[in-house]
Amino acid sequence: MALLQLVDESHPNLRRPTKPVSDFGADLQQIIDDMLETMYEVNGAGLAATQVGLDIRVAVIDVTSDHTQPLVLVNPEIIDSASEQTMEMGCLSLPGCWAAVKRAGWVKVRAQDRHGEFYEMEGEGILAEAFQHEIDHLDGILFIDKLSPLKQKMVRQRAKKALKKQQRRS
Ligand SMILES: [Zn+2]
Repeated sequence: MALLQLVDESHPNLRRPTKPVSDFGADLQQIIDDMLETMYEVNGAGLAATQVGLDIRVAVIDVTSDHTQPLVLVNPEIIDSASEQTMEMGCLSLPGCWAAVKRAGWVKVRAQDRHGEFYEMEGEGILAEAFQHEIDHLDGILFIDKLSPLKQKMVRQRAKKALKKQQRRS
């Protein structure tokens, strides 16, 4: 296994819809293992292929603090949603950016596992947020896009200041 490099916002794949996966061979298995390892290394609750510069419809999620429930989503789609929640979230692709985003509080996802078997899964709370956040990534959407232009500017300015402070400290 190997750690993958997170790309920054200048990488075009972060802004492009991904390609569906049809080959569930050794290359995909390696990518999924590497994505899981990378997500745990950076302490993320999810990681989409676009965030490591790839253009395939694959994401991994684990919302547990002890890393015990890894989920692999290949070609995922949200097929149902309900209720509403507003959760303060960040993104590995937007260092220092945090904002509350309004999303569905419950979603049902249809995806394939790492071997191509279809499954459906429901999630609420943090898991619903993770499903929506990662599937957005696979459609080329970042969470900041959900905010008004003014709010986006504020969040980016705050992130810049926070990162500067961090740099001075280290
Ligand atoms: Zn993200």
